[in-house]
Order: sequence, then structure tokens, then C-alpha cells
Amino acid sequence: MNFELTEEQKMTQNMAREFANDVIRPRAMEIDKEGKFPEDIFKEMGKLGFLGIPFPEEYGGSGGDTISYALAVEEVGRACGSTGLSYAAAVSLGASPIYMFGTEEQKEKYLVPLAKGEALGAFGLTEPNAGSDAGGTETTAVLDGDEYVINGEKVFITNASYAKTLIVTAVTGKDDRGKNIISAIIVPTDAEGLTITEIHDKMGVRGSNTTQIVLDNVRVPKENLLGDPKAGFKQFLKTLDGGRISIGALSVGIAQDALDKALAYANERKQFGKTIRSFQAIQFMLADMAMEVELARNMVLKAAWLKDQGKPFTKEAAMAKLFASETAVRNAERAVQIHGGYGYMREYGVERLMRDAKLLVIGEGTSEIQRIVISRNLD
Ligand SMILES: Cc1cc2nc3c(=O)[nH]c(=O)nc-3n(C[C@H](O)[C@H](O)[C@H](O)COP(=O)(O)OP(=O)(O)OC[C@H]3O[C@@H](n4cnc5c(N)ncnc54)[C@H](O)[C@@H]3O)c2cc1C
Repeated sequence: MNFELTEEQKMTQNMAREFANDVIRPRAMEIDKEGKFPEDIFKEMGKLGFLGIPFPEEYGGSGGDTISYALAVEEVGRACGSTGLSYAAAVSLGASPIYMFGTEEQKEKYLVPLAKGEALGAFGLTEPNAGSDAGGTETTAVLDGDEYVINGEKVFITNASYAKTLIVTAVTGKDDRGKNIISAIIVPTDAEGLTITEIHDKMGVRGSNTTQIVLDNVRVPKENLLGDPKAGFKQFLKTLDGGRISIGALSVGIAQDALDKALAYANERKQFGKTIRSFQAIQFMLADMAMEVELARNMVLKAAWLKDQGKPFTKEAAMAKLFASETAVRNAERAVQIHGGYGYMREYGVERLMRDAKLLVIGEGTSEIQRIVISRNLD
């Protein structure tokens, strides 16, 4: 076994850390407070190649691997959860399905601008009546001549207000057993009949763009169907497997930031004539925080490594996402506790971590759904 990162992986990590510390971190508090999507930061990230890390150069990417991408998401998330979520969603949900299942034409037309960071992508699976139960999708896409006519509603879709393309899941027919066939279809966001409304009021990741989408007789060419028309459900489960690695990486970033902030404060704050770091109760909290971040990071990188090796990684990605996201929630809560009353105030930036971390145990499959996935994959 070798736990060393390659030179290329280290370079990506350093580049991401530098950019996150210099450009993103100083803006994190403002992004959260104003709930404003940092479009300018994404433009810069695009130019630096962040949006194309796991895609080959021929499609506008940087030809990196999933490990490099996970390291970059961790660094971005460590500086700002909102930016981290939009970054992970753009790459893992908005662009990856086109890379994994698209035709050459679809890759040329839709993946290249996403990988180059010239445009953002979004992925619309969740509906008002179909969340954890994605099989309950009600949106329909009916073939009319050479076009699909799409009708339905999607909720909580990340990045759609700023995206050029949206991948939506829709029922396209019935299989031999009478069950709905669910396919994924690429929809340009300027299509007629598509309405995207931003949802502003949310607990955390407030600077990540979250939207509600209505599709009212939206027409797209039938060539926009993504991958095997009969295997749409399997395809988006694969998409979610990959996405879970990125949400795991984002969780590690938030959990690490909670530890960094708690440690710095514990070294500084004095009570009873000593730094609070000298109290064993605080030391034990810090030790648990550090141990769990280390475990979570190892799990995320192992899942990324399995994906890069072309080996099965469904179970490991679910485990990594579950453990890392629950670690982020625990560490953020511990960081607030270590900060005492100051932790409850916005100024110290740890209550934001608590609010941001909570999304991670809900999005991309709740903790309960991860446990179902893990349990189903036990031999
Ligand atoms: C900020 C944000 C960004 C998001 N971005 C996207 C996006 O870009 N694209 C997208 O498609 N979706 C997105 N989502 C949606 C997200 O993936 C869903 O909210 C999530 O999958 C849960 O679905 P739900 O909200 O309908 O909850 P429900 O499925 O209604 O779940 C409610 C509760 O019931 C539990 N539950 C449900 N089924 C079971 C079961 N079988 N066993 C045990 N417990 C169960 C759940 O774990 C949960 O605790 C986003 C959500 C948020 C909040």
C-alpha cells in the first residue's frame, strides 16, 4: 500500500489550497451573510481548470483523476461550504454524467464548455414528490416527432440559475414489466417553457444557488437523451455514486476547518488562568475531531482511488459520504462548543460550519439512504 500522493495530485492540492485561502476564504462570511452566489469566483476557478479536473484534455479538462478532484473539493469546502457545494455539484452532477454516458457529439457540444469552466452544469433529479424515492419521478418526456416534450417540476436543484445546461430525469415510457423507464435528458437552460426560480431562504450553504424548476412543454431534440434510453435509472445511481465522493470530500473540508478553528481558539482563550487547551475535556474533543477527520479523509480517498482503478466503489462511496458528513456535523458542533458563547456569534465563523454541515447529511442521499445502500451492498 502507498499513502503518498503523486506529484500531480500534490500540485492540484497546493493550487486549490492557495486559491481557496487567497480568494475564497476572505469572502466566505460575506457569501453566507448575503446568500449570494459567487459568480466571479467560479469564472476564476474555470480559468484555472478547477471545473475540468477529472476530465480528459480532449474534452477541455485537465486530465486529472478522482483523487485530485476530491483534494480540490476538500480545499474549496474548507474555505467556504457554499462554494464547495456548487463546485461539487457542477462537476459531479452537471458535467460527469455527460462524460460517463454521452455520445461524442454530446461531449463536444455540452461537456467541453463545462470542463473549461465557460459554463456551469446542473442536475435535476429531485422533485416535490420524489426525493429519496427517485423511482417515484413524475416528470415526463414524451417523444413527438424528433423532439422530446418535457413536463414536470424539480426542487432544490443546485446551480440552475447560473447553468447553461441542465440534466433532468424524466419518465420516458414503461418497460416489459410495466415499470416506468426513467431517462436523463440534456436541457439547455434557455429552452422555452423552462422556468428557474431561486430559493433564497435556507439554513446553510446560503451562497450556493438552490432552485425550483418548472418544465412546461419544454421541447428538446431527441438526440439530447443521455446514454442508454432504457438504463436511465442505473445511470443516475452511478452518477450519485461519484457525487458521493465529492460530498464526502466537501465534508472533510468543513470538518477540517472546524478543527483548525477550534484548535486556534483553544490555544488562545484563557479561563481560570490557563488556556482552555490545557483542560482535558477540551483536549479530548480536539483529539476526537482530529481522529475523525483523518478517518473520513482516508475513506474518501479510498473510494476515489477505487473509482480511478475502475473497481466497484458504490459501498465505499456511500460509507465515505455517510461517515464524512456525520463527522462534519459533529466537528462543527464541537467547534461551537469549544468557542463557548463566542461560537454562537456569526463573527467567529463556526456557527456557519454547523449550518453548512447539516446539508451534507441530507443532500446527495440522506444518511438513512446511505445506510440502505451500504447494507444492500454487504456480501
Ligand atoms: C441545498 C440543497 C441542494 C440540493 N441539490 C440538489 C441537486 O442539485 N439536484 C437534485 O436532484 N437534488 C438536490 N437536492 C435534493 C436532495 O438530494 C434531497 O433533498 C434529498 O435526497 C432528500 O430528499 P427529500 O428532501 O425529498 O426528503 P425525503 O425523501 O422526503 O426524506 C425525508 C426523511 O425520510 C427519510 N427516508 C426517506 N426514505 C426512507 C427510507 N426508505 N428509509 C428510511 N428513511 C427514509 C429521509 O432519510 C429523511 O430523513 C438538494 C437539496 C438541498 C437541501
